[in-house]
Amino acid sequence: MEKLFPFIEYRGRKLFVEDVDVQAIAKRIGTPVYVYSKAAFSYWFNEFDSAFNDVEHLTAFAVKSCSNIAILRLLAEMGAGADTVSAGEIFRAINAGIAPEKIVFAGVGKRKDEMEYALSHGILMFNVESRQELETLNKVAEKLRKRARIAIRVNPDVDPKTHPYISTGLRTSKFGIDYDEAFDVYMKAKEMEWVEPIGIHFHIGSQILDVSPFEEASAKVADLVKALRDKGLDIEYFDAGGGLGINYHPEENPPSSSSLAERIVPFVKELDCKLILEPGRRISGNSGFLLTEVLYIKRKEGKIFYIVDAAMNDCMRPSLYDAYHHIVPAEKKENIEIVDVVGPVCETGDILAKERELGKCEQGDILAVLSAGAYGFSMSSNYNSRVRPAEILVSGSKFEVIRERETFGSLIEGEKIV
Ligand SMILES: *Cc1c(COP(=O)(O)O)cnc(C)c1O
Repeated sequence: MEKLFPFIEYRGRKLFVEDVDVQAIAKRIGTPVYVYSKAAFSYWFNEFDSAFNDVEHLTAFAVKSCSNIAILRLLAEMGAGADTVSAGEIFRAINAGIAPEKIVFAGVGKRKDEMEYALSHGILMFNVESRQELETLNKVAEKLRKRARIAIRVNPDVDPKTHPYISTGLRTSKFGIDYDEAFDVYMKAKEMEWVEPIGIHFHIGSQILDVSPFEEASAKVADLVKALRDKGLDIEYFDAGGGLGINYHPEENPPSSSSLAERIVPFVKELDCKLILEPGRRISGNSGFLLTEVLYIKRKEGKIFYIVDAAMNDCMRPSLYDAYHHIVPAEKKENIEIVDVVGPVCETGDILAKERELGKCEQGDILAVLSAGAYGFSMSSNYNSRVRPAEILVSGSKFEVIRERETFGSLIEGEKIV
């Protein structure tokens, strides 16, 4: 037995997820296919959530990382709330059975109709990202005669030391309200009739592997909470966002959730706030992977390409961020060769892995693109008119389809020849 990630391991020469041979999934469902493990979700949710047991808290799963309603239902049953960034995500969360009072709503560009949707469903709070948004929300809430509970998303100006495309807590980023301005915006909110400031929010970035920026941000934001309370504002919720990183290679060790908790919890205890956390990747990333078939092998002078049936439209992170995904064969191979794993899409950037040591494959072999549970299917598109993959949930020795593979019909749904 060789363990790659919790519940994902080789038994003999064969790759298993829980008690299922992944080749059985490829055979029955076809490829490409996203595979999630119920036990892994449970493991990662508990690893995270239990780290914060010292304080009253809500783990609001970041829906954008993995949005399937079967997954959201699983997490709801474990006690999760939802961190959402659109009305569509609120719709998913509610559909999956997540209680509205466990839903928070962030995003720099909320439309009025999205505000109305969220208000009418009675979500916990809006994480407001600009002065104009605050004013608009006040008007929308007045129209509906429903007070909007809010937190201001504060940009604490700390460097999370991650990929620039996924850092969000620096002054130069489009997210949140500058730290120095936030106090003033809270004072405005206090005067407004239809918004009720109940919390404070920050989210400094994604795939963060050094937990010290969380302490820096928490300290700054905690100071702000004290200043606001001095002015009579009842800040009840301290929302520390998401962003804790994972290992994309089985042999790396990411920080534990407890080490994150150590950086945040002391501030929350001192303030006697309720803590909200918004992990996405940390829970879903290593709870899923993508299976793909090797369609063709091209061996050229000094270069080998494995052309597989999954592409950048199915799994975008390598093309978008030059991200690393560990790739392993469904059945172990004798020899190693150095290959590029590429998809069929007509773009040079359609690469899943570059110059990677991989067991020597043959046409028809199945590969697993690991750590694809987060920002995998949820970022997929129909580019090149490719139908999006099926999604499968494994539990023990069983697996079920939680999203059918799209059909040609779904490709042209809503289109009209005029
Ligand atoms: C994307 C996002 C998250 C989740 O980020 P992860 O890195 O997946 O944990 C949490 N909160 C907000 C506001 C986000 O935009």
